[in-house]
Amino acid sequence: MIGVIAVSFLVVIILLVRLSRTFDEMTRLSDAMRQLRRQLDTTSGELEQCQSAKEALGETVFDPVVFVDDDRRVVACNNAADRLGICKVGHSLIEATRSYELDSLAGDAIAGRAELPRELALHNRLFRAQATRFEGGAVLVLRDVSELQRLGRARRDFVANISHELRTPLTAMSLLLDTFRAESANITPAQQRLLGQMQDQTESLTQLVQELSELTQIESGQMPMRMLRASLHEVVSTAITRLLPQAERAGLRMINTVPEAQRGLFDPDQIRRVLSNLLHNAIKFTPQGQITVFVLADEEADRQLQKLRADPNGLDLTVEDVLIVGVRDTGVGIPREELPRIFERFYKVDRARGQGGTGLGLAIAKHIVEAHGGRIWAESTLGKGTTFYFTVPREE
Ligand code: ADP
Repeated sequence: MIGVIAVSFLVVIILLVRLSRTFDEMTRLSDAMRQLRRQLDTTSGELEQCQSAKEALGETVFDPVVFVDDDRRVVACNNAADRLGICKVGHSLIEATRSYELDSLAGDAIAGRAELPRELALHNRLFRAQATRFEGGAVLVLRDVSELQRLGRARRDFVANISHELRTPLTAMSLLLDTFRAESANITPAQQRLLGQMQDQTESLTQLVQELSELTQIESGQMPMRMLRASLHEVVSTAITRLLPQAERAGLRMINTVPEAQRGLFDPDQIRRVLSNLLHNAIKFTPQGQITVFVLADEEADRQLQKLRADPNGLDLTVEDVLIVGVRDTGVGIPREELPRIFERFYKVDRARGQGGTGLGLAIAKHIVEAHGGRIWAESTLGKGTTFYFTVPREE
């Protein structure tokens, strides 16, 4: 009997020990569950925060934004993209937007290729699209530039109309001044001087009007480039001949070192215009010395083109595509910090230099060179001189 009681007691003790272990385990389990729950609460809080931040972003960013995955399927977008009708989650980007250009921009970004902004038309509006890669896809941001384009067109039309309207009275004034000068033999020297000044001012105004109207024509694409296989040597030579009297008056030599056989694929009239503007400036800003027009040898051209490629706005040009023409003077030079600005409309480095001019010559040259798919730039040392370089397409 005592034996049975002892065994039962032992069993009870063992059961009690097991129970207490189970109890301990249950306590630990419930602690772990509480911790998990806390973590879940925090994560879902963060998720909610993320979601509402995304929604706020969607509301505040007025530019349509589209996220695509690595297969270029739309995974998310903001309200602006939705309003534009391109937010078709789950569809391919091309199905959603029907834009081959946007699709190829996304493809380039995903493949890690250049991600320069592109202008493209979508739903009758003009957008500047930018794509950036992220882990698992890309994000596309579309900036609506239709209004900017419209304003640009309005500005060009306005300038074109004004310059057209100014032309007739200016020609009349010029003729009247000529007639007056021819028929006024007995006016005083002071009156003679005033008359000369009036003629100079009328000429400056006529040049400004002429250049403004040319610039607007080129900017609006109304001056199409006639690309011909032509002799570069000849074009340089005619530009130099036309400015020879001016250079001689200033006591400057102009040298054409472009090889006679050198040809290219370009609009001869327009490239002559570029050269005239550069030579005209070189004469104005060179007190003494000489002006040389040359073509860079391949190795040096390659070095210059590498610098162009390194620039984020640069072009991917190689010596197989283009020649580089240079116009070098031994003049006053241009301060380094001014160099990036000289191609802007109406920009003059130092108005006190008082060299006349409209500030439009380089802007016109830039447009013409860019219409040939090229670039124009300058290097300069103050007091030593300036070299302008521009690209010309090779003959092929
Ligand atoms: P402008 O009609 O005044 O010559 P451009 O657009 O041709 O207008 O040139 C802009 C400015 O750049 C000039 O006013 C001048 O200050 C500077 N510049 C251009 N070419 C040269 C040069 N060869 N040497 C020094 N300064 C120059």
